[in-house]
Amino acid sequence: STVLMNGEFIPREEAKVDIEDRGYQFGDGIYEVIRVYNGKMFMAKEHLERLSASSEKIGIATSYSISELTILLEELIAKNSLSTGILYMQFTRGVSPRNHSYPETVAPAFVAYTKPLSRPLDNLENGVGTITVEDIRWSRCDIKSLNLLGNVMAKQKAAEAGCFESIQYRDLSVTEGSSSNIWIVNGGKIRTHEANQFILNGITRQKIIQLCEENGIEVEEKAFSIEDLIDADEVFLSSTTAEVTPITAVNNVPVKEGNIGEVTKKLQDLFVEAIVGECGQ
Ligand code: PLP
Repeated sequence: STVLMNGEFIPREEAKVDIEDRGYQFGDGIYEVIRVYNGKMFMAKEHLERLSASSEKIGIATSYSISELTILLEELIAKNSLSTGILYMQFTRGVSPRNHSYPETVAPAFVAYTKPLSRPLDNLENGVGTITVEDIRWSRCDIKSLNLLGNVMAKQKAAEAGCFESIQYRDLSVTEGSSSNIWIVNGGKIRTHEANQFILNGITRQKIIQLCEENGIEVEEKAFSIEDLIDADEVFLSSTTAEVTPITAVNNVPVKEGNIGEVTKKLQDLFVEAIVGECGQ
């Protein structure tokens, strides 16, 4: 396959990382994952704006404008004949002799590649199991940074428990999944953690909120407790790759007998309509 690396389209086998790339040594960089349906990016503008916001938060000057990057990414999708899949991209602060403080004059390093990936139809239809874990991450989870060790450790705990995702909590509040946002539904009303420094403001999360507002579904952006999670009528998670995935169990306890809730189903339908609206059938 073809990879876009520092402005050049090159074969995957030729894409090499320098041992002193700051992304490699420090996790000093930022990334995005964009869904591609029917060869078209879904919510590209929102993802690229978040990438730009992340870069500003850590002081990396990305080498492209959003419109320049959009054109390059479209070209990459075409070169790889990608229909349904994902587009991964990252900027690191660049290559420089190892030293914690920022190098003064270094160009950021960029790489993007595509991967075919089907929609997760089985999980969307049948739901997934989860466990709760303590959120041990730092307090700038709003930055989509390459430093993912806390997330990786949380996901590994889920994998070891035979679950799809870990639901993280900080003090008494549920924050988010290891790579997803978490939602509860009670009496038809939905709720998710507010977009502050303790969660990543998911692009899927933002789309769900918009869909709720357009369709008269009440939504509250306010942290909830583990107790609220366990007592909820419905629980689901959201992410670029997982879309709107029902959660049917938390710590082996079924959420409302393990059935998929009506509000979750409704949001799944609205989400698919949004995909079709932007990317076609
Ligand atoms: N929270 C974390 C920590 C994530 O890594 C992700 C995405 O992978 C999300 C939330 C969901 O964000 P998005 O909907 O933009 O994929």
